[in-house]
Amino acid sequence: MIITIQCECGKQLELQPTTVGNHAYFTNQSQGKFRTDVDVEIDQTVYLDNTVVNELAETEDNTRISEILEDQIINMVSTDSSLNELRITCSNCGEYITLTSF
Ligand SMILES: [Zn+2]
Repeated sequence: MIITIQCECGKQLELQPTTVGNHAYFTNQSQGKFRTDVDVEIDQTVYLDNTVVNELAETEDNTRISEILEDQIINMVSTDSSLNELRITCSNCGEYITLTSF
């Protein structure tokens, strides 16, 4: 599969996969003809586990508190990310296209 980007001004770019797994490295292939901007949304939610809260409440030792948090904080944080938009802008004339609704 290839992706062709063609601007009204005549600039054109054909993105071709270069590796196993069909990765096409945009920066290497665009050579400044086009640039991309992305809008990524990241949502983080913290879930406080009662067991962890109780362990924290039972100690005043900062070293122990750090150990508890280091052990458990990854389990208490949930992160979701999504790509909302991908904008491709022509470096020659400034025309752009925004891909959305992934
Ligand atoms: Zn252009």
